[in-house]
Amino acid sequence: MKLPRNFKNNFSLKNNNSLKLDYKSDFYADCNGLEDLGQIYDFINENKINIWVIGEGTNLVIKNDLKGLVIKNNLKGFKVNKNFINVGAGENWDSVVSKTLELNLYGLENLSGIPGSVGAAPIQNIGAYGAEVSDFISYVEVINIKNGCTEIFSNEECKFIYRGSIFKNEPHLIITNVCFCLSKEFKPNTHYESLSGQLSSAEDIRKRVLLIRSEKLLDYLEIPNVGSFFQNPIIEKKLFNDLLIDYPDLKYYQLNSELYKIPAAWLIEKAGWKGTSNGDAGISDKHALIFYNHSKKVNDILTHSSEVVKSISDKFKITLHYEPTFIS
Ligand code: NAP
Repeated sequence: MKLPRNFKNNFSLKNNNSLKLDYKSDFYADCNGLEDLGQIYDFINENKINIWVIGEGTNLVIKNDLKGLVIKNNLKGFKVNKNFINVGAGENWDSVVSKTLELNLYGLENLSGIPGSVGAAPIQNIGAYGAEVSDFISYVEVINIKNGCTEIFSNEECKFIYRGSIFKNEPHLIITNVCFCLSKEFKPNTHYESLSGQLSSAEDIRKRVLLIRSEKLLDYLEIPNVGSFFQNPIIEKKLFNDLLIDYPDLKYYQLNSELYKIPAAWLIEKAGWKGTSNGDAGISDKHALIFYNHSKKVNDILTHSSEVVKSISDKFKITLHYEPTFIS
C-alpha cells in the first residue's frame, strides 16, 4: 500500500484525545485543505478502509487500536456576511464564540467555554445553559467521502435532537464548514438558575458561564476527561411519579405534559458515586457527571462507568446513555 506524503502510519492518538488514551491507528492524516481532502478521498477509495474523522478529541472515547485511517479535521476559515458567519470545521469553538461577541453578533454566548472544534458542534448538537447550537445553525457543508461531492445540509436536514444529529451516524460525511445565523440584537437567555442575577450584556453572560465552568468542571489539560460522561435522561410521567414517592427531593425539569428531564449528575450523586474511583479512573468530587482517567487504556473508566449505569438502573429504573462518541 503506497502511503501519501503527509500520511503517518502506526500513529499514537494520545495527543488527539482529551482522555489521553494511548491507542494507535493504522494510518493518520491531517486535513488542512482541499488538496489534503483529495488525497484522503483517493486513499480511501483505493484501499477501501475504515475512517474516523476527529476534531480536537474532547468528546471522544477510543476503545482500542484502530484498524483504518484517522483524519484530523483542521479546516480553517471565518467569513462574516451581515449576521451570518461561515466557519471552517477545524476552528476552535470557544475562539469563534469570542470573535462573534467582538463583532456584536449574539446567540452563542451561553455556549462559551465548551471544549472542541466547530465541526464537532453540530454532530452532537452541543448545548449548555439553556442554549443549543442547533438554534443558530443555518446550514452545514460537508464532503461526502463516498463520492467526493460537496453537500449542504439545511438546519432541518441536520435532524437535530437533544445532543445529537444526522451526522452522528454518517461517518462518511466530513464537515467542512458551518454557517451560523446570529442576531445583531442581544436578547439575554438567562432562564437557567445559574445565570440568574444582573447579566446585562452578552460579555457578562460569557464571563459568568466561563466562571461557573472553571469552578465546576475539570480542565482536561490537567486531568484527562471528556466533560459530561452521560446524557441527562428523559423519563415518562409514570416513572417520574413513582420516583417522586421514593425521592421527594428528586431534581427534575418538566419538558411537556408527559416528559421530564432528570439531571444525570443528581442520580449519580444520590446513588453515592460522586468522588469514587476505580483503578486509574474516577468521578470528580466537584461534578458527578465528569469522569476522569489517568490511565493510557480505557478499561478502568469503562468498568467504573458501567457499574454506575447498572446501579442507576437498579435504583431508579433509569437507563443512562453515554454522551461522548465511542470509537473502536
Ligand atoms: P446545572 O446548571 O447544575 O443543572 C443540572 C442539569 O439540569 C443540567 O444538566 C441541565 O440540563 C438541567 N437544567 C438546569 N436548568 C434547567 C432549566 N431551566 N430547564 C431545563 N433544564 C435545566 O448543570 P451543570 O451540570 O452545571 O451544567 C450546566 C450546563 O452546562 C448544562 O446545560 C449542561 O448540559 C452543560 N454542560 C455540558 C457538558 C458536556 O460535556 N456536554 C459538561 C458540563 C456542562 P441540560 O444539560 O439539558 O442543559
